[in-house]
Amino acid sequence: IVRFSGVSKFYGDTLILDNLDLAVPAGQKLAIIGPSGSGKSTILRLIKGLEPYQQGRIEVAGMPVGEKAGGGWFARRDAKRRHVVGMVFQQFNLFPHMTVLGNIVEAPMRVLGLRRAEAEARAAELLASVGLTGREAAYPRQLSGGQQQRVAIARALAMQPQVMLFDEVTSALDPELVGEVLGVIRALSHESGMTMLLVTHEMNFARDVADRVLFMEKGRIVEDAPPARLFTDPASERTRTFLRAVL
Ligand code: ATP
Ligand code: MG
Repeated sequence: IVRFSGVSKFYGDTLILDNLDLAVPAGQKLAIIGPSGSGKSTILRLIKGLEPYQQGRIEVAGMPVGEKAGGGWFARRDAKRRHVVGMVFQQFNLFPHMTVLGNIVEAPMRVLGLRRAEAEARAAELLASVGLTGREAAYPRQLSGGQQQRVAIARALAMQPQVMLFDEVTSALDPELVGEVLGVIRALSHESGMTMLLVTHEMNFARDVADRVLFMEKGRIVEDAPPARLFTDPASERTRTFLRAVL
């Protein structure tokens, strides 16, 4: 459902992704690990259509991402297409002036054209699934970081995406709040057939949730293997060194 074919991306003269090939079949749970600056977030941002790229081609659900112009592809503001992909960020990015319910129903009403009653009924189900029933009227500042992040997950799911992207969604949380957010994602991964790509520093979580793990370095995929292999018997010395440092 996601396909990168020979994709290269630069910031100025700096090569960020180097001729990347990657095919993620529908339903796969893919974890991306690797050192800081290796290009993990850039991959997710490209799938979401938030970044231009210079070479190759990216397709999501059979359609090219972005708009071709000159020698490359440019980001396009196209809410109708972009909602195929849901994304949750390290910083929760909730609308601070809207309630929990307002945050969740806003895009389904405006972009998908759902009626309010319909959007609110669906929001109630989603809030139940992230363990926040009863918090509809709260504002983001009244919630803990873990609760805000669970609202952000519900908001992304409300658009009924085919692909969900999670970029270090627990990195900004206090340690005691990490578990509740990982639990929600773990449940989602087991209960839904949704395609999920997760950038994470939580190796136990990656091992648990993913059916495939990429280890990235310097804009390249160094290793691509099932978690049972990558975490216990990595093929690359680089992966081995990285895991030794983080585990
Ligand atoms: P981290 O684990 O720190 O989040 P990452 O693997 O997600 O790292 P990316 O955010 O994808 O890394 O960044 C890849 C490279 O692109 C880094 O070297 C970074 O410095 C560079 N980069 C990212 N955004 C920009 C930007 N707006 N302008 C210039 N360089 C950028
Ligand atoms: Mg990142």
